[in-house]
Amino acid sequence: MEAENSPFYILGIEGSANKIGISVITSSGKILSNPRFTYITPPGTGFLPNETAAHHRSKLLPLLAQSLKEAGVTMSQINLIAYTKGPGMAPPLSVGAICARTLSLLYGVPIIGVNHCVAHIEMGRHATGLQNPVVLYVSGGNTQVIAFADGKYRIFGETIDIAVGNCLDRFARLANISNDPAPGYNIEQMAKLGKRYVKMPYIVKGMDMSFSGILSFCEDLILTHPVLKNESGFIQKEQRPLTSEEKDEKASDEESDSEDEEAELLRKRKTIKRKNIKNKNIKDFEYDKNDLCFSLQETIFCMLTEVTERAMAHVGADSVLIVGGVGCNERLQTIIKAMLEERGGALGAMDERYCIDNGAMIAYTGWLMHSSGLSDSIETALFTQNFRTDEVDVRWRTNVQ
Ligand code: MG
Repeated sequence: MEAENSPFYILGIEGSANKIGISVITSSGKILSNPRFTYITPPGTGFLPNETAAHHRSKLLPLLAQSLKEAGVTMSQINLIAYTKGPGMAPPLSVGAICARTLSLLYGVPIIGVNHCVAHIEMGRHATGLQNPVVLYVSGGNTQVIAFADGKYRIFGETIDIAVGNCLDRFARLANISNDPAPGYNIEQMAKLGKRYVKMPYIVKGMDMSFSGILSFCEDLILTHPVLKNESGFIQKEQRPLTSEEKDEKASDEESDSEDEEAELLRKRKTIKRKNIKNKNIKDFEYDKNDLCFSLQETIFCMLTEVTERAMAHVGADSVLIVGGVGCNERLQTIIKAMLEERGGALGAMDERYCIDNGAMIAYTGWLMHSSGLSDSIETALFTQNFRTDEVDVRWRTNVQ
């Protein structure tokens, strides 16, 4: 297809959550550029789909120009356009998909839609060199323990409610911890200062995990604590009398805003007589925010490690690859490493350049798909919020263990 010495360039576009990233790589897997922008919201708030999409639209063209410039190529040199097909939030996904289709039509370049989760796995294998690891995929939207079997990435264990990163993000909102640069990063730093372990619910059911009960438990710990409750973003807003302007504003947008719905839920819960927290050690409220960060991390990371170890035993794997935004957490890496040392296994972990959502992982996986004969057309290059890891036909990997 191409002349022997002319490089094959792939453009990768990622925008499934609060990051928009565009990368240029070559078919040998060399990353020529990989810039991204993150939509950061104020403490006590999360990113809403339409606002996130508006952020991505505003960054898209400067980011494309920056990515091409850093790579030293022009759009007319691009041979393949890969973009995130799903899973993710629909409005931000649509930004990437529309951009990819527009560029594909304008420049007459083949287009291919990529599964975001599979892209994390392939980027991880490429960056660490691990051939057949058990994959622990932990991010704001996903919590899965995955291994390759019979031509697909099979999910051995997963969350039965919210994702682990979502649990951390929402804990940060409750505790009024900053979202800059990321709530999980700030929790990790505060956890280092924690001195006391507060016992929390540890919920592993078979190979699956639950995080929503832990979050409710933390909510109780914060909202019944004489000091911490005053630091909670929600309660602060409630305790201060509203100005007349705020009252008008509140009446007009209360129904439509999901952040307000969440505050309303908290208000209702406050009026319900709180259960006595059974753990005697914490009755005296001798814990602070750092202790809660520490205890939350230890509990959820040990749950993840337990399920990962069981999956390794099941498939006979001797290595673990951690991918997704939460995978950057050094404490999680340390706990997994301790488990692996006992089993004589290896850990593949990446730094934030490749662990966190980025365009290069989409470009690289798009290339693997394209070179194994998979393709999309303008008609099929759509996006979908629900796109499971095990739906993808992983043709580029032989089924040899
Ligand atoms: Mg991700």
